[in-house]
Amino acid sequence: GHPVCECNGCYGGTDCSELSPECAADANSGDPVYLEPFWIQNAADTAVVISGWHRMSYDYVDNTMMSIELENHIRQLHSVAGNAVTEGRYMVFGVGSSQLLSAAVYALSSETASSPSKVLASAPFYSIYKDQTVFFNSENFQFEGDANSWESSDFTNNMDVVEFVTSPNNPDGELKKSVLGGKTIYDHAYYWPEFTPIPGPSDEDLMIFTLSKLTGHAGTRFGWAIIKDKNVYEKVLKYIYLADMGISKDTQLRVLKILKVANQEDGKPFFEFAYNKMRERWERLTSVFSKSTRFSIQQRHPLHCNFFHETRLPSPAYAWVKCEREEDDDCGAVLKARKIIGSSGITFSAEARYTRLSLIKSQDDFELLLQRLTELVSHENGCI
Ligand code: PMP
Repeated sequence: GHPVCECNGCYGGTDCSELSPECAADANSGDPVYLEPFWIQNAADTAVVISGWHRMSYDYVDNTMMSIELENHIRQLHSVAGNAVTEGRYMVFGVGSSQLLSAAVYALSSETASSPSKVLASAPFYSIYKDQTVFFNSENFQFEGDANSWESSDFTNNMDVVEFVTSPNNPDGELKKSVLGGKTIYDHAYYWPEFTPIPGPSDEDLMIFTLSKLTGHAGTRFGWAIIKDKNVYEKVLKYIYLADMGISKDTQLRVLKILKVANQEDGKPFFEFAYNKMRERWERLTSVFSKSTRFSIQQRHPLHCNFFHETRLPSPAYAWVKCEREEDDDCGAVLKARKIIGSSGITFSAEARYTRLSLIKSQDDFELLLQRLTELVSHENGCI
C-alpha cells in the first residue's frame, strides 16, 4: 500500500493534490521567492562552498571591507540593465538595503542645525522609513509623515528636509519623483527590468538597491548604496563600520556567484526569465480584475524600456487593490472574509480602502491567490 503521509498545509486527498476550501491565500509578505525556478536551473553555477579555514579575516582593506570584484560586478549589472549611473560614484554595501536606509538618514541629516532634520515620504509609502526613523530616535532627525501634506515653502531651509523617494513605489509601483526638492534618498529596490520599463539610468545623489528584489535572495541580506558626494559617502561608510564592522564575507561571496550568473549574456537570460514571470502574472491578474467593478487595481502606464528595447507596461511586485464600494471601507476585511490575506493600506499611511497583495511569492502561492481572486469576482457577479 501507499505510505501514509501528512499533506502540507492547504492540501488534502490521497495524493495531496486537493486544495482545501478552508485554505487562505496569503499575499501579505513581500518575500521574493518567485525566482526560485531560475536559480534551480543554475544550481551548480551558483553553489558556494567555503572551507573552515577560508576567509577568516576581518580583512580591513581601506577600512571598507568590501570586495572590489563584487563592486565591479554590481557596476557591470547597472550598466547592463541601464538603470543607474555608477561612473565616478562611491558605493557602500549594507546588511540588506534596510540598514542603508537608516545609514542614509543619518548621513543626510544635519548634526549642527538647531532643530532636527525632517524626514518625509509621500503616501502611500513603505512603512520601514517611518518605523526606523522613530525607532532610532535621534536628536538629528525626526519623522514628519506624508510629504504630500507639505509644501517646499513650509520649510525655511530645504536642506534640512530628507525625503524618501521609492521608485518604483512599494506598494503601488509608481515611478515616483521627489515632491519637496530637498535632500533625497532614492530607494530603487524595484528599479529593475522585471518590475518596470527602464526609461533611463537614474542619476540621483543617493540611490539604494537590494539583492532581495533583484534576484530574490532576501535571506542573504545584501544591499548597496550609490553615492555622488564624498562627505555623504564617508558618513554612510562610518555608520556601517560602527554598526557591523562591514558586511559578511560569506554573504559577499554568495552575492558574487549569483551576480556573475545574472550578468551572463548581458543579463538577457536572467532578466527575460524574471520579466516573463512577472508579465504572465500581471496578465492573469488583470484578466480577473477586468471582470470586477467592486475591486480595482492600479492603472499601469506603458513606457519605453531601454533594456528590452520596446514600449511595455510595468509589472510591479504588488497589486494595489482598491475596494470601490462605499461600504467596503475596510478592504482588508472584505478580502479576508473571502480567504485572501493582504496588507492594509493603513500600513502604508494610506486608507484602509486599499490593500496590497504580493505577486512575488512562489508559483503555488500565486496560483492559490489567483484562484481565491477568481472566486471573489465570480461571487460578486453572482456566479457562486
Ligand atoms: N525598500 C523597499 C521599497 C522594500 O520594499 C524593501 C523590502 N520589502 C526594502 C527596501 C528592504 O529590503 P532588504 O532589507 O531586504 O534589502
